[in-house]
Amino acid sequence: MSQRVLVTGAAGFLGSHLTDRLLGEGHSVIGVDNLSTGDMGNIAHLKGESRYAFEERDICVPFDVGKVDAVFNMASPASPPEYLKLALETLRVGSVGTENTLEIAHRYGAAFLHASTSECYGDPLEHPQTENYWGNVNPVGPRSVYDEAKRYAESLTMAYNRYKGVNTHLVRIFNTYGPRLHPSDGRVISNFMMQALRGERLTVYGDGQQTRSFCFVADLIEGILRLSRSDEHMPTNIGNPVEFTILECAQAVLEVTGSKSELVFEPLPQDDPTRRKPDISKAKRVLDWEPKISLREGLKLSLDFFKSKV
Ligand code: UDP
Repeated sequence: MSQRVLVTGAAGFLGSHLTDRLLGEGHSVIGVDNLSTGDMGNIAHLKGESRYAFEERDICVPFDVGKVDAVFNMASPASPPEYLKLALETLRVGSVGTENTLEIAHRYGAAFLHASTSECYGDPLEHPQTENYWGNVNPVGPRSVYDEAKRYAESLTMAYNRYKGVNTHLVRIFNTYGPRLHPSDGRVISNFMMQALRGERLTVYGDGQQTRSFCFVADLIEGILRLSRSDEHMPTNIGNPVEFTILECAQAVLEVTGSKSELVFEPLPQDDPTRRKPDISKAKRVLDWEPKISLREGLKLSLDFFKSKV
């Protein structure tokens, strides 16, 4: 049955891909975004789409978009340089903005999904990370504005589930990439792709031995949709469990772009997690989901987008 769906952070990387999937399934989407890190270019192709409406608004101010069946709360600065610049905004959108959005789900009896993050695990002492691991987070370091906002949002979401009976879902998103990942938002894949295509040196922070596990956006959106329609209320990891060092990631980017760029080593940001890899057994079991696209395949699928931004 066709639904009316609210997506916050709708002009962002994930919000815009999610919107495309929902519209493709025949639903109507109301997208809201204050454009602090979102980009209207990500939704320009939806102009004239009768089942799509966009509202530029800050979700930290209470709002109402009328009756909806489902709510996806994707709004937040998400790349480290951006959330460090927008520190107070990041704390506010995770707390006040998330509460305002939960209120809408409560008001209309809508299903609610909050985009949480692997950052809830901090610099993890358990490897790989299962959902039962409570994490190793510095609550007062520079990254805390993001980590603690996201952890508070999880707590708030669980409270709306337990005390107000809202049908909530929490996805812990691991590093994700693909077309529309902002070319200058400072993330490793966008930095490396743009540097490789421009023939600049790839900036490896630290010794490049820290690891990440990269999920292609289409795989991630599929996992998020399945979770939003499930009966699972506790946090669920969605990500690709294949782990790469940052040096291996640089190598993959050089291969896919055919670039001859060299590497340059730069200082490691404070509290940069040394490793990160999701245990996705729960998503496999509960959602029958697992990622299908390898890093090299996904980088190839992203190539045209990054080339268009050079
Ligand atoms: N990184 C890097 N070079 C860059 C950008 C990032 O070596 O130009 C490293 C960063 O220090 C981290 C990893 O790549 O260890 C992933 O960083 P990103 O900002 O993409 O996301 P994070 O997982 O830290 O939130």
